Amino acid sequence: MSARTVLHQADIARALTRISHEILESNRGADDLVILGIPTRGVLLAERVAGLVSQISGQDIPFGALDVTLYRDDLGRHPTRNPQPSRIPAGGVDGKTVVLVDDVLFSGRTIRAALDALGDYGRPRVVRLAALIDRGHRELPIRPDFVGKNLPSALDERINVRLTELDGDEYVSIEGA
Ligand code: 5GP
Ligand code: MG
Repeated sequence: MSARTVLHQADIARALTRISHEILESNRGADDLVILGIPTRGVLLAERVAGLVSQISGQDIPFGALDVTLYRDDLGRHPTRNPQPSRIPAGGVDGKTVVLVDDVLFSGRTIRAALDALGDYGRPRVVRLAALIDRGHRELPIRPDFVGKNLPSALDERINVRLTELDGDEYVSIEGA
């Protein structure tokens, strides 16, 4: 089955810029922001968002990676590929506004695990969620605060997210089973 491109490179860039403005608006500035990506592609997106928020605000924004592997409630059901260790910025997360970033939001179980993992590092003042794609089919009461694109999908469809740093090209497409 053929894939349909839903976001081109420029669309992804625009979505991340908009999300960065929205983060600054909802936080009323850049103070105490920490941006954490969920491996793998969420980390690349988090780095870009942190760069954009820094650029727009003129303040340095700490960013890092949050590994959720060991906190999954479906651990063992799926093969775990290349777990990346968490990288929490030096200032930590205690009392901070933490923005979690992932490429695709689906059941919500990854984010539930991320909230659990985050608790090991401290108590953020508030945790927000940014996702490049929300494809629906939530199984938990979790919703994104910042979304690149809502992309209603069938359960057996698959969203491909390709990012230059990792894949050599950049787009989002949706593909049937
Ligand atoms: P959830 O835990 O919400 O079911 O799934 C979200 C996680 O699985 C994200 O980290 C995301 O990268 C991955 N994921 C779930 N569905 C898709 C999909 O259709 N395409 C891609 N690229 N990743 C997905
Ligand atoms: Mg992922």
